[in-house]
Amino acid sequence: MSPVSTHQWQNWAGNQHATPRRVTTPRTTAEVAEAVRAAADDGLTVRMTGTGHSFTGAAVAEGVLLRPQGLTAVRSVDTARGLVTVEAGLPLHRLNAVLAEHGLALANMGDIQEQTVAGALQTATHGTGRDVAGLASQIHALELVLADGTVTTCSREERPELFDAARAGLGALGVVTAITWRTVPAFLLRAEEAPMRWDEVLGRIDEFDAANEHFEFYWFPHTEGCSTKRNNRADGPAEPLSAVKYWLDDQFLSNTVFGAINRVTHLAPAAAPVINRISAKALGARTYTDTSYKVFTSPRTVRFKEQEYAIPREHLVPALKELRALFDRRDWRISFPIEVRMLPAEDAWLSMAYGRPTAFIAVHVYHRDPHDAYFRGVEELLTALGGRPHWGKMHTRDAAYLGTVYPKFGDFLALRDELDPERRFANPYTRQVFGD
Ligand SMILES: Cc1cc2nc3c(=O)[nH]c(=O)nc-3n(C[C@H](O)[C@H](O)[C@H](O)COP(=O)(O)OP(=O)(O)OC[C@H]3O[C@@H](n4cnc5c(N)ncnc54)[C@H](O)[C@@H]3O)c2cc1C
Repeated sequence: MSPVSTHQWQNWAGNQHATPRRVTTPRTTAEVAEAVRAAADDGLTVRMTGTGHSFTGAAVAEGVLLRPQGLTAVRSVDTARGLVTVEAGLPLHRLNAVLAEHGLALANMGDIQEQTVAGALQTATHGTGRDVAGLASQIHALELVLADGTVTTCSREERPELFDAARAGLGALGVVTAITWRTVPAFLLRAEEAPMRWDEVLGRIDEFDAANEHFEFYWFPHTEGCSTKRNNRADGPAEPLSAVKYWLDDQFLSNTVFGAINRVTHLAPAAAPVINRISAKALGARTYTDTSYKVFTSPRTVRFKEQEYAIPREHLVPALKELRALFDRRDWRISFPIEVRMLPAEDAWLSMAYGRPTAFIAVHVYHRDPHDAYFRGVEELLTALGGRPHWGKMHTRDAAYLGTVYPKFGDFLALRDELDPERRFANPYTRQVFGD
């Protein structure tokens, strides 16, 4: 009888747990290949995790858990071509620092920089943008260990189908060991953040989206209040927030005070509308100019659960109106603002923005609050519009549904059948979303 595993794993939000049979920390691609072959010999599944920032069970490892911390080297920096190759476990914040040292940057990114490069990529992590899409669109090449233990590379020229499938592959086609990023020269972003009323935001979304490189907004449920963000490239000089203002806004108000608010609304949900009205008013306007990644990202210390759906861009305004109407009909009491972002079409097969200009609507609850009724209600609304769930954020969709909203879903499954017929890289989540 094999010994009972004592390895415990849980994700950032604390809503996913695993007890893998074995945990190893490979330090080279060869060691990853060795671990995959050893798992096959023992009849175990294998999965590398990132930093566990997915809310779904995407990173749950049942058999062998490969920790990312040994694979963090920067392999090469080609400043002239903007191509930078790093190992899969490097955290995004370290990638950003390395790029900055070489006068380079990612053209667009999401709200945080804690994830590993491979973990963020595998669920098609994105920010907001008019011209530049998500991480999967900023990749030049991938190195992967396949289920048979062989090492392969892919790019637009070399194994292009694998490249299109594996860029956002949920770890189901192979273990990514290295990523070559297509970067741009370092740039400054000027951030303009302003409170705005719901009617004005909805009336001017298209104008804001067309006029800004990165437009997004938050709506405070139960209120008229929104907080808008417009980020555009600037020549400089940099005018960052002062240390005091940064601490006050981004650490104290957005995290410490917001955490306290959520502890209150957890105990007294009926207070959420009043508190949201105060929060929406408290968020003032501010403008600053800083290194791109410092504007794109900010710290998040209040734990939450999240669901995010990607819908065709043209449905955004009707979807938001219907979402607001849902709040009027249901007895939800939600303290977390709803985040709205946009992205041009992407070409990675399982990117949520595949083949269509996309709008993202993200709903959150405090990690201790119930999410079922709220997330289910929003999910019903957005799936009726052909919505695609973010692979790393909570949803209830299965392969039967996903096959109807991803044109290349069948091609992905066929490639998976070919590359991993024994489902070496499967876990409960891939069984849910791919059907086996
Ligand atoms: C506070 C917070 C803010 C967030 N903000 C955003 C945002 O702005 N935009 C957005 O799109 N998402 C956002 N997310 C979601 C997050 O970016 C994704 O869930 C991302 O996948 C997490 O990366 P990770 O390193 O934690 O990977 P994990 O969650 O640990 O893993 C994600 C997937 O990648 C696989 N994987 C990891 N490494 C490898 C590898 N080397 N080879 C093959 N597969 C691998 C895992 O097995 C798993 O399937 C946020 C999440 C949180 C908690």
